[in-house]
Amino acid sequence: MHDKNIIPHLAVVLVGDNPASKIYVRNKRKFFLKNNCHADIFTFESNVSENKIIEFIKELNFNNKFHGVLIQLPLPKHINSQNLVNNIDPQKDVDGFHPENLGKLFLGYPKFIPCTPYGIIKLLDYYNIETEGKHAVVVGRSNIVGKPIGSLLSQSFKKGNSTVTVCHSKTNSIREHTLKADILIAATGVANLITPDMVNENVNIIDVGINRIEDNSDRGYHITGDVDFEGCFNKVNSITPVPGGVGPMTIMMLLMNIVQAANNANK
Ligand code: NAD
Repeated sequence: MHDKNIIPHLAVVLVGDNPASKIYVRNKRKFFLKNNCHADIFTFESNVSENKIIEFIKELNFNNKFHGVLIQLPLPKHINSQNLVNNIDPQKDVDGFHPENLGKLFLGYPKFIPCTPYGIIKLLDYYNIETEGKHAVVVGRSNIVGKPIGSLLSQSFKKGNSTVTVCHSKTNSIREHTLKADILIAATGVANLITPDMVNENVNIIDVGINRIEDNSDRGYHITGDVDFEGCFNKVNSITPVPGGVGPMTIMMLLMNIVQAANNANK
C-alpha cells in the first residue's frame, strides 16, 4: 500500500540492444503502469562509456521525480556493473545490489532485498514450505541471487533458520549435496543442470534459471530453467516452472521495493 498522492517512479537504465533485456524492461514498464506506478526507460548505445552512465546515474540520484534507479543487466563487456551500482544512491537502490544494502542484508537488517531472493522467500512463505531446521542447497553463488538467498535462508528470520549449503561451478559432485536438500534453489544459467537422479522425493525445488534455447519454432527459441522440469515434476514434493515461478515474483518484488522507496522518500 502506498499514499495515493505519490506515484512511485522508477528509472531504468538500458545499455545496448540485448533483445532479452529489451523485453524485460518493456515488461517491467507495462507491469508498473498496470499497478499505478511509473517506469521511464533511458537507453544508451552499447559503446557508451562507463563514465557517461555514472554521470547519468548521479543526475537520477538528485532528481526527486525518481524514487528508484535500476541498471538492466547484462551490460556490454567494457562496463563494470558494480561500478555503476556503487554510484546509485542506496535510498534509490530498489534492486538491492549496492554494497550498503547488501551489507545490511548480510548483517541481518535488510532494507532493500534483491528482488529475486525476495521473491523466493515470498514463494516459500506463501506455499508454507518450512525452512527452519531444513537443509537448503543453493546452486550458484552470484551476488544477485545465490549469495543473498543463501544468507537470508540461514539467518534468524521467519523464512530462515535453514542450514545452507552453497554449491558453485567448482563444487565437486554437486549431486552429493543436492540429494540431501529439503529445499533446492538452482540459479546457475545452465539449462537442465539438475536432473531427476540428483534430487530426493521430499525436496521443494525453486528454479531461478532463465535459459534461452534455440529451436525450430516461429519464435526461434524457447525458455527453460536450470532444472529438468518434466523429469523432476513427478518425483519431487514441489517445483517452480520456468517460464513462470520465480520470474513473475521478481518483478512483483521490484514493485514492492519501489513503493517502499517512494514511501521512504516522502516520510
Ligand atoms: P551468474 O552467471 O552471475 O552466476 C551463475 C552461478 O552459477 C555462478 O556462481 C557459478 O559458480 C554457478 N555455476 C555455473 N555453472 C555451474 C555448474 N555447472 N555447476 C554449478 N554451479 C554452476 O548468474 P545469476 O545472475 O545468478 O543468474 C543465474 C540464472 O538465473 C541465470 O539463468 C539468470 O538468467 C537467472 N536469473 C533469473 C532471474 C529471475 O527473475 N527468474 C533473476 C536473476 C537471474
